Amino acid sequence: MSEPGLDPTRRALWKMAEAVHDARITQNILRALAPRRAVIYMLHRFHDPALGNDGIAVDHVVSCIRTLRSLRIDLLSLRDLVEHAAAGRMLRRPAAVFTVDDGYRDFASVAAPVFEELGCPVTVFLTSGIVSDRRWFWWDRVRCILDASTRTRIPVRLGARDEIVLPSRPAERRDLAEAVIEALKWVPARDRDAKLEELGVEAGVALDPTPPAHYATMPWDEVTRLESPVCEFGPHTRTHPVLSLESDASAAWEIEGSWRDLRERLRRPVPVFCYPNGTRASFTARDGRLVRGAGMLGAVAYEPGFVTPHRPGGQDLTALPRRTLPNKPSRAPTSVTGVLGLPIRGRA
Ligand SMILES: [Zn+2]
Repeated sequence: MSEPGLDPTRRALWKMAEAVHDARITQNILRALAPRRAVIYMLHRFHDPALGNDGIAVDHVVSCIRTLRSLRIDLLSLRDLVEHAAAGRMLRRPAAVFTVDDGYRDFASVAAPVFEELGCPVTVFLTSGIVSDRRWFWWDRVRCILDASTRTRIPVRLGARDEIVLPSRPAERRDLAEAVIEALKWVPARDRDAKLEELGVEAGVALDPTPPAHYATMPWDEVTRLESPVCEFGPHTRTHPVLSLESDASAAWEIEGSWRDLRERLRRPVPVFCYPNGTRASFTARDGRLVRGAGMLGAVAYEPGFVTPHRPGGQDLTALPRRTLPNKPSRAPTSVTGVLGLPIRGRA
């Protein structure tokens, strides 16, 4: 629920409806009536004051976990959930699963200690080639190049633009960087990398091959130190391309290769793959077959919906839905239970 622009009377009614919705008795009733299904949350970065990066506040994640737990919503590991779904086994109660994409260092510095302390299972998806080579994610390079450039115009053709005109205000520059990232997201990886090289040259910015701490992923020794029954890791390709744009050979190298990298490095990686980007257009049935062919149980996407392990006919394990964490902790239980068992958004 979000508060729309309302007149004072309707606003008061809306506030009342929210109070009723958030009341503990309402939440308990919703939980009792809810189907035994799970929601998988997808998180990315956590705000770390020491690193100075943007991201979700860890306190917010803690509040969501405590609220879910207080209503007896199970906090399951992704491994547990997918094993339930593979066996068609019904969950004991409605459940929530936490996953974190990409493996930035802020997970180790501020989030992992909290998940461990609360005993809340979490699965982190690693881009194994980026971790091994301590390289940049391409979208961070775009942000840094545009931030550091002293040019006012960068003669690089991009989508409908003939050139990139750099605003002087930092906020406008950041917005521009996000627009450039969006435009480059749907370019095959090889072409995109060439475009990034061109962008750096024309912007007059030569970045170090290794990103600063702010943009760095966890090194392998940190990953192995964090690996535990609470904190597990799964594969997320080697270089983070949009798989639907890649050739069969490239997709196989990314999917099978990242799973192999994790098995070589870790004690017990989670046999569940995570598609980069994750929307329906960003992966194909071929990629699902590659996941299963590599010996993994399934894969997570970024699509609305719930996981219902005992669903007649079975849950599609190669495209498990995920959603973002609600921005109010009081909304977390309903994101699992729906309202009177009905999903808030997406299919059940
Ligand atoms: Zn990712």
